[in-house]
Amino acid sequence: MNSAKVAVLGAGVSGLIAALELEAKGFHPILIEASDRVGGRLRSDQHESIALDHGFQVLLTNYPELKRYQLLSALQLKEFRPGALIFEDQDPHRIGDAFRDLGFLGSTVFSSVATLRDKITLLREQRRLAQTRPEAVFAQTREQTTLDYLSERYSDRFIELFFKPFYRGIFLESVLSTSYKHFEFVFHHFALGKAALVVNGIQRLPELLASRLTQTEIKLNTAFDESEIEKYDALVQTYPNTTAPADYNGCINCYFEIESADEGLLKQLETTIGLIPHSDYVNNLHVLSAGDRQLLSATVVGQVEMGHSEIEGAVRQELLERCAITVGKAVKTYTIRRALPRKTPMQYKAKVQQEGAVFYAGDYSLYPSLNAAMQSGRAAAEAVSRHLNR
Ligand SMILES: Cc1cc2nc3c(=O)[nH]c(=O)nc-3n(C[C@H](O)[C@H](O)[C@H](O)COP(=O)(O)OP(=O)(O)OC[C@H]3O[C@@H](n4cnc5c(N)ncnc54)[C@H](O)[C@@H]3O)c2cc1C
Repeated sequence: MNSAKVAVLGAGVSGLIAALELEAKGFHPILIEASDRVGGRLRSDQHESIALDHGFQVLLTNYPELKRYQLLSALQLKEFRPGALIFEDQDPHRIGDAFRDLGFLGSTVFSSVATLRDKITLLREQRRLAQTRPEAVFAQTREQTTLDYLSERYSDRFIELFFKPFYRGIFLESVLSTSYKHFEFVFHHFALGKAALVVNGIQRLPELLASRLTQTEIKLNTAFDESEIEKYDALVQTYPNTTAPADYNGCINCYFEIESADEGLLKQLETTIGLIPHSDYVNNLHVLSAGDRQLLSATVVGQVEMGHSEIEGAVRQELLERCAITVGKAVKTYTIRRALPRKTPMQYKAKVQQEGAVFYAGDYSLYPSLNAAMQSGRAAAEAVSRHLNR
């Protein structure tokens, strides 16, 4: 056992991983969390038998960190099919990766969403990026926005109908100004794995990590007060320093009861993500079900200043006009202002930032992803251990 006094500030996924790794090195850390639960941005509520995540969050099953901590086999996952339903009009286009899901073959080969050249380029890019290691993606020195990168490769129509709505839902920003490095990172993992929802809520993931902590004292509802730094030999801080606050992309996530829609369409939306291109409000949608209960989840990118009843009305209208889905009562609407850090170094690995005894971790220090949060937590724990065992 190491008797040094170590604190981890923030019980999001980076803090939980930092605590686990510190335990593995013989420390007995104290994990201090401002809110009432562990998980940070991974948060869910229960509505009857259906878990409502605070924002549409998927696990990419190829994320190395999920494999490293054996989380995939420990969580009940619902995988999405590798494709999308695109609501250009009420009869959606179905496109997808026919090599991995033959059900997409006919509708993709004959789809008018993309040109033949787009389809060939996509296949070639998929092969290339599947073989490109994430380290190499982030090591590229060239800088470019995702939109410019896509414009060099694909037709405007394919970008407008597919890439824009699909990646808006991932980057949570409208114009795809996010670095193409994040695009390539996500594309690499889509090429090698699937996107999956945690059936009983994304919050199960941090709860599972917390249940593995045996030597850590967890203090909830406790905002760390900087005047207490001196009490500790080392600290891992998992949120940005107040002197360098991060900007965030935000979104709104509404869950509705479904009143009427084509049964076949709802069935497809349980396993295939729906996209509404050129939309004023809804970027993507899917259907959650448990037993005979169904809810529709709709994500609006940005618009975080709109009030809940105003946004629910706008979403209701758009779902009717664009998808022929009539939704009823909004069971829950979440406004998430601080969803993804906007400006990150976009690095796969970085030297852990240190100020005195404080070591920084969190997704904002690498790239905006769960995988990055976990990597950064482990790296900070290793840096603390080196620092204290010098
Ligand atoms: C809507 C949405 C969709 C997303 N989609 C995806 C996705 O599909 N795939 C993906 O990989 N990632 C996605 N993410 C990103 C992913 O959730 C984050 O990268 C990850 O959860 C960040 O973890 P973290 O530990 O770095 O930060 P956080 O989860 O923000 O944890 C920081 C913690 O510090 C606490 N804290 C702050 N100040 C103090 C203080 N003074 N004292 C004590 N505690 C404090 C906070 O309460 C919080 O619990 C999404 C995020 C959101 C919100």
